[in-house]
Amino acid sequence: MSKKKFKAEVNQLLHLIIHSLYSHKEIFLRELISNSSDALDKLKYLTLTEDEFKKLDFEPRIDISFTEGNAKTLTVSDTGIGMNDKDLAEHLGTIARSGTRAFLDSMSGDANKDSSLIGQFGVGFYSSFMVADKVEVITRKAGEETAWKWSSNGKGEYTIDEVSRDTFGTDVVLYLNNEGEEYASRWQLENIIKKYSDHIAFPIYLEYDQTSYEGEGDDKKEKKEHKIEQINAASALWKRSKSELTDEDYHEFYKTISHDTEEPLFYLHTQAEGTMEYTTLFFVPKKAPFDMYQADYRPGVKLYVKRVFITDDDKELMPVYLRFLRGIIDSEDLPLNVSREILQKNRILANIKSTSVKKILGEWSKMAENNPEKYNEFIEEYNRPLKEGLYSDFGNRESLLELVRFKSTIEEGWVSLKGYTERMKEDQKAIYYITGEDETTLRNSPLLEAYREKGIEVLIMDDDIDEVVIPGVGKYGDHEMKSVNRSGADEELKTEKDKEKGKEIKPLLKKIKKVLGDKVKEVKASTRLSDSPSCIVADENDPTVQMQHMLKAMGQKDIPDFKPILEVNPSHPIVVKLKGSEDDALIEDVSLLLLEQAMLIDGAEVKDRAGFVKRLNRIMEMAL
Ligand code: ADP
Repeated sequence: MSKKKFKAEVNQLLHLIIHSLYSHKEIFLRELISNSSDALDKLKYLTLTEDEFKKLDFEPRIDISFTEGNAKTLTVSDTGIGMNDKDLAEHLGTIARSGTRAFLDSMSGDANKDSSLIGQFGVGFYSSFMVADKVEVITRKAGEETAWKWSSNGKGEYTIDEVSRDTFGTDVVLYLNNEGEEYASRWQLENIIKKYSDHIAFPIYLEYDQTSYEGEGDDKKEKKEHKIEQINAASALWKRSKSELTDEDYHEFYKTISHDTEEPLFYLHTQAEGTMEYTTLFFVPKKAPFDMYQADYRPGVKLYVKRVFITDDDKELMPVYLRFLRGIIDSEDLPLNVSREILQKNRILANIKSTSVKKILGEWSKMAENNPEKYNEFIEEYNRPLKEGLYSDFGNRESLLELVRFKSTIEEGWVSLKGYTERMKEDQKAIYYITGEDETTLRNSPLLEAYREKGIEVLIMDDDIDEVVIPGVGKYGDHEMKSVNRSGADEELKTEKDKEKGKEIKPLLKKIKKVLGDKVKEVKASTRLSDSPSCIVADENDPTVQMQHMLKAMGQKDIPDFKPILEVNPSHPIVVKLKGSEDDALIEDVSLLLLEQAMLIDGAEVKDRAGFVKRLNRIMEMAL
């Protein structure tokens, strides 16, 4: 006997499942049936494509049985691919998905919140421990001779022993606890299987003993019969006619393939006939998958060919920016034994992919129009991946530009570019936006002062991806998108009076530039400031301060030192007074302080901190 310890993550997950999902404990059965169905899918594929498996006697089925009495048990068996000892240790002793630890650590400990979040992760096999004191998995891998028994009480350890099993496949035996004993009942099981698994493509049988009576009075005899009854329709849900299917059918199917405990936010079922014959069924989870921002995220779309499962591990089936989609693609036109290499450059698949993406984006745009509340929920989770699409999916950029949302200085909540252009001032030409790391800082930025005064809307872009994506987009319709953080964005705001004032302080600007030297690229009169004396902006083609931070964070070295442009507000009392000053030492201090305060507000680093404090103190002393 070999005794092993669960990896720490497993213990954490077990604890979480037991404490946050007890009110939905019956989902354990959906999870076990779903695992069996996956195991059958995998073996079915091998029996159709690999010579050594073609000769196997494969009758795909799932059997559920139970024992009553003192020791109540429930067994879920399948004739699927099975596991060997190595598989068991790997799949039922660890969690191989990266980011698991961080995800589990982020859970709040509040059962209500956690129960909805755990759906992002997927519940799986370990949910059995909600209803069982002990779980045994007796399994033999197809093509191998040795069978194995995995056994655990879910308390930190498990054992793996060699046992015998006549055929390949898996039995999961639950020794039901107080929470679970109600499931040792024909009626209960029949109800749950119907509810959760009617769409499973393989037959599910329930075994039970039926007692009946024969004869009358004293002759009455009890008769016990052992029955095996098929409970589900055993047809792939996506192949059924859409008109037959209800929202609930789709929701249950989604939960089975995603292991999510919540209903999906959106689904789209397409049955294409004609030159190309295929079916797709896509879902959007309510909560973004926990690994959405990991390079090794788990893809959520499964490929089938003529209802035979091919792979669930192909990231190319859908564009990367749509990696949060869950669902299936089932093609009638692909050969069964498609290899990975063939898949990647297959025209049929490429066609299904591009048609599907167009259709999905179209449906989301309808959602935005017809159900803004739901669309808001969608945007809260998926705005960022959609923005990724703006640079990675050029062909759909127009549609994506209609789908992405931004925060704004004028409207509350999320705004669209279309909405922005509809609200634009009559003579306004450009769409203005400000980028940075933090919404509050941006909203208080001196760069916005003149826009606010003139009632011009500015989009607040506090997502680091905005910096990269939006300049690449450049235009929305006829309107150029201009970053308020850059020099030149205020051209449109300039009045004759501004130009006049700019001229008046030219000599002062020269003096300031002389003091600042090559700390700045240029010193200019600003038209965008009203309450603040100065601000810094980036030259039109230089990266902004935030973008430089991001490049550094992404590991880019040798970023040249881009110098900012200092803009000075000609109407500000400090500047007006400075203009009349003859005190060179004071001009020097104030010039430097004008730059330093502008840098601080922008989130840039002030390198000479000691000098800054000294200057500040000198000025304070003078003022007191
Ligand atoms: P998930 O199904 O999300 O991967 P689970 O914890 O439910 O997570 O299962 C872990 C793994 O154990 C599965 O991915 C599969 O490889 C294996 N497994 C579970 N049940 C079975 C089964 N009945 N037959 C074969 N393999 C199984």
